[in-house]
Amino acid sequence: MRLLWLWRKELVYLVLFISIAAIFSYFWGYFIHMVVFILVMALVYQAFLVAKLEQWLKQGALGKAPISIGAWSDVYQHFVNIKKAEKKRKKMLGNIIDRFRQSTDVLPDAAIVIGGEGEVEWSNKSAKLVLGVKKSDRGQYIENLIFSSKFALFLKNKDEKSVFSMSSPVDDKIILQFKVVRYGINQQLIIAQDVTQQKNIEAMRKNFVDNISHELRTPLTVLKGYLETLQEMDDEQSAIVTQSLQQMSEQTERMQYLVDDLLLLARLESKKTESHRVDVAKLVKSICLDSSIIKENKSRIELVLASEVDIIGVEQDLRSAFTNLIVNALNYSAKSSSVKVTWKQMADKMVFEVSDQGEGIAESEIPKITSRFYRVNTARLKKMGGTGLGLAIVKHVMIGHGATLKIKSRIGKGSQFSCIFSNNKVFSY
Ligand code: ADP
Repeated sequence: MRLLWLWRKELVYLVLFISIAAIFSYFWGYFIHMVVFILVMALVYQAFLVAKLEQWLKQGALGKAPISIGAWSDVYQHFVNIKKAEKKRKKMLGNIIDRFRQSTDVLPDAAIVIGGEGEVEWSNKSAKLVLGVKKSDRGQYIENLIFSSKFALFLKNKDEKSVFSMSSPVDDKIILQFKVVRYGINQQLIIAQDVTQQKNIEAMRKNFVDNISHELRTPLTVLKGYLETLQEMDDEQSAIVTQSLQQMSEQTERMQYLVDDLLLLARLESKKTESHRVDVAKLVKSICLDSSIIKENKSRIELVLASEVDIIGVEQDLRSAFTNLIVNALNYSAKSSSVKVTWKQMADKMVFEVSDQGEGIAESEIPKITSRFYRVNTARLKKMGGTGLGLAIVKHVMIGHGATLKIKSRIGKGSQFSCIFSNNKVFSY
C-alpha cells in the first residue's frame, strides 16, 4: 500500500495515457502497440530521472534539487533533509572543537597528543611556552623536538602511574613533571605540569631538616654524656631524681634515633654511595644475631636462608632497611609469636621477606605507612617509641637499589614485608 501511495502520481499518469490510447484504438486499432509505446516512454523517463539524481549526487548534492514529480520529488526532499541535518551537525561539532581548543589553550599544563609512530598530532599553547612544541610541529617526531634520552626512555615505559621530572628545554629554571595517558589505537597524551614551586619548597624543607639534624647532633651527644655522668653519680636517695634522669636519658636517646634516621634519609635522597657485592645471607644472619638490635627477642626469629646469591648494593643501607623491618615485626606482634625472616630466590628475582603474626595493618593505611613520620593511630602505638621514619628509610633504600617494597597485611592476622630485587646484578656461587 505504501509503495502504491509513493508512486500514485506516476500511476495516475499511466492510467490516463492508457485510457487515451484506448479511446484512439477504438477508432484506429493498435491498442497493444500504443500501451507498449507508453510503457517504454515511462521507463525512459524514469531512467532520465535516475541519471539526473546520480549527477546531482555526484556534485555533492549542492544547490537546489532538480525539479521532478511524484516519487522522485519525495526522494530529493529526503536527500535535502539529510544534507541539512548533516550541515547542522557539522556546525555543532565545529563549535564543540572550537570550545575544546579554546579551553585547552588556556590550560596551565602543556598537553601533546602523539600518534602510533611517535609523531605529534596536536599540542596546546602551554606546550609551546614550556616545551617549545609549536602547532606547526605537527607530524614531527616528539623525540626530535624534546632531546632527552631519559624522556625517550620514559615514553617507552608502559606504566601509566609513573611520572618523570626534568627541566624545561625552553627555560631550565622551570621544572616539569610529565605524565603519559594512553588511549585509542597507540595514541598517547603527554601532560607536562610546572612543578617548580613545589620542588623549590621541597628542596627548602629538605635543606632545613638536614641542617637542623646536623645542628642537633652535637648538643644531643653532650646532653647524653652529662646525663650518663649524672646517672652514675645518682645515689638513688630521691626517687623523683632517679626517675627524671631515667626519663631524660630515654627521651635523649629517642631524639638521637630521630636525628640519625633523618640524617640517613637525607643521605639516601641525595648522595649516591658506591655499591659493592653484598653477601645478603651473611648480612641477615648478623642482624638476627645482633643482641643490641634484637634484644631479648632472638628466640622469636625463624631464619630461613634459602639462597646464597649475592647482590650489588650498599651494605650499610641494606642493614638499616632489613633491621627496621625485623624490629617492626617484633615490636608490632605479641611477645609469644614468631617472626619469619627469609632470603630466597624466586625465578630471576631475589627476595628478602619478613612475616609476622602480629596486629596487622588496615588496607587503607598500607599506602601511607612508608611516608615520613606516619604512624598508624592506635592507642597501643602511642605508648611505644619509634620515629615513624623506619619504613620511609626502607622505601628509599629499595629505590636506591632498583628494588620494590611489597606489603601484604591483614588486621589480626599479621603482615608480610617483601623487598624484591629484580634488576640487581646477582652473583651465584
Ligand atoms: P615506627 O615503627 O617508628 O613507628 P615505621 O616507619 O617503621 O615507624 O612504621 C610506620 C608504621 O607502620 C608504624 O607506626 C606501624 O603502625 C606500622 N607498622 C610497621 N610495621 C608493622 C608491622 N610489622 N605490623 C604492624 N604494623 C606495622
